[in-house]
Amino acid sequence: MRSIVLAHEVDWGAWRAAARMLTLADVAPEDVVWSVRNASDLFAEPEEEAAAPTGSFTVPRALVSLAETVIQANDPERFALLYRLIWRAHRGEKHILEMTTDPEVQRTQRLAQAVRRDTHKMRAFVRFREVVEPEGTRYVSWFEPDHYIVEANAPFFTRRFATMTWSILTPYRSAHWDGEELRFNVGASPADVPDDDRLEAYWRAYYSSIFNPARLKIGAMRAEMPQKYWRNLPEAAAIPELIRTASGRVDSMVEQPVFSSPRPARVVASTPVEGGTALQQAARDAAECRRCPLWEPATQVVFGEGPPDARIMLVGEQPGDQEDLAGRPFVGPAGQLLDRAMAEAGLDRQTVYLTNSVKHFKFVPRGKRRIHEKPGTGEINACRFWLDLERAELKPALTVMLGVTAARAVLGRAVTISRERSQPMPLPDAAGGNTTGFITVHPSYLLRLPDEEAKTREYAAFVEDLRRVVALAA
Ligand code: SF4
Repeated sequence: MRSIVLAHEVDWGAWRAAARMLTLADVAPEDVVWSVRNASDLFAEPEEEAAAPTGSFTVPRALVSLAETVIQANDPERFALLYRLIWRAHRGEKHILEMTTDPEVQRTQRLAQAVRRDTHKMRAFVRFREVVEPEGTRYVSWFEPDHYIVEANAPFFTRRFATMTWSILTPYRSAHWDGEELRFNVGASPADVPDDDRLEAYWRAYYSSIFNPARLKIGAMRAEMPQKYWRNLPEAAAIPELIRTASGRVDSMVEQPVFSSPRPARVVASTPVEGGTALQQAARDAAECRRCPLWEPATQVVFGEGPPDARIMLVGEQPGDQEDLAGRPFVGPAGQLLDRAMAEAGLDRQTVYLTNSVKHFKFVPRGKRRIHEKPGTGEINACRFWLDLERAELKPALTVMLGVTAARAVLGRAVTISRERSQPMPLPDAAGGNTTGFITVHPSYLLRLPDEEAKTREYAAFVEDLRRVVALAA
C-alpha cells in the first residue's frame, strides 16, 4: 500500500507529481491512500520521495484541466477519484471523459460543477469592508466557500481590485493583496472582520438603485444566496424595507422622466439552476467560456434572458459595469432607458429576449472605476458563437440589432446605422427559416447625446423604431 500525504487541501503540484509517478509505476488506485497533512504535522519530517519512474505519460489535456478544478472540491475522496481516472486514461481509455454514463466520470463532473458554482458565488458575493490601518486603508471581506477555492480565485480579485489593499478571510484560508504581492495564510473567523463600515452603506445604496419590486423573486435569490452568503451581504438588510415600500416604488418607476438618473431595475443575477432549457444550459456553459480574453477581468458572464418562446430578440453590444455586477443584461442606465422606451412603444420587456453581442464586460480600470471599452472585431467574432446559439435555440421572428456592434455580430459585416436603420431586412440566418432583422440605435447612444433637444428628438425616433418592431412582430 502506498501512502501519499499532501501538504494542504489544494496541493495541486504534489498531487499531480504523485499521480504521474504512481501511474508510471503502474500502482493500482486501490493500492494508494491519499491524505492531507494536519496543521499539527506542519513541522513533521517530509516524506522521502520515491525516485520517479520514467516512461511516456499521456492523458488527455481536458482531464488534467478537469482535475485541476476538482482538486478544489470539498470531498476527501477526490484525490483517489481523480487518480483512478488518470490511471484508466493512461491504460487506454483515452476518451474517458466522453463516457458520460460512467459513474466515476459523472461524479467528477458533478464535483467540477459544484466548484464552478462556488467560484461564481465568491466572485459575485464578496463584499469588502473598509478598515483604516496605520499603513493606510485595507478592505477586508469575510466569505464562507463550500469548497477550497480561495487560492484559485484570489488572482481574479488581484486583477479586479488591483490598486486596493485587501484581505479575503475564509474559515480555511485567507488571501492578502498589498498591490504587489499575493499571500495566503491560515483561516480566520467572522470576528476578524470589523463591523463599522462605510462600504456597507454604499452596497445598500447601490442595491436599492437596481431593485425592481416588480421582479422580486425572493425564493430564487435565497437559492442563489444560501444563508451564509445572505447574512454577509450588506444589501440583504435593505430588502425588507424595499419590499415594504414596493408599491410606491412601482408607481414612481412609471412616473420618472425620460432622462432621469438610473431608476430601479432588476434584482440580482439569475444564474440558471441545473436542468432547464437548452438556453439555460448554454448560459451555464458560457460561464466557462475562454474563447477570448474578456472572461478574465470580468466578474461573470452575462447571458441573455427572456422567455424561451419570445418572438422578438433584442441584441445589444456588451454588458456594462452594473450588468457585470448583477449578472443580467440591460440593468444599468442604458437598460433603464430601454425599459422606458419599450413601455412607451407598447413592448413588454417580459415578452422579449434580451442579450448582447459580447457576453463579458470589456473595460479599462481607471482608479477604482471601470471604464467601458468597445469590443473589437475578434471579440465580437469569438462571442458570435453564443449569439448564434441563442438565435438557433430561440428562433425569434424578429431580431432587433441595437447599434453597430450588434449589427456586425448578427450580419457579419460593417453597418452604417444612418443608412440601414428602421427597415426590416431578411436575415441570412443562424435561426433557420425566414426571419427578419431590424437595425436601430443602442440606447447608450441616446445617453451620450450632448444636448436636451437632440436627446428628446432621438429618443422619440427610438420609440418610433420600437413601435415598428411591435408591428412587425404582430
Ligand atoms: S466575451 Fe464571449 S467569447 Fe469572450 S470569453 Fe466571454 S463569452 Fe467567451
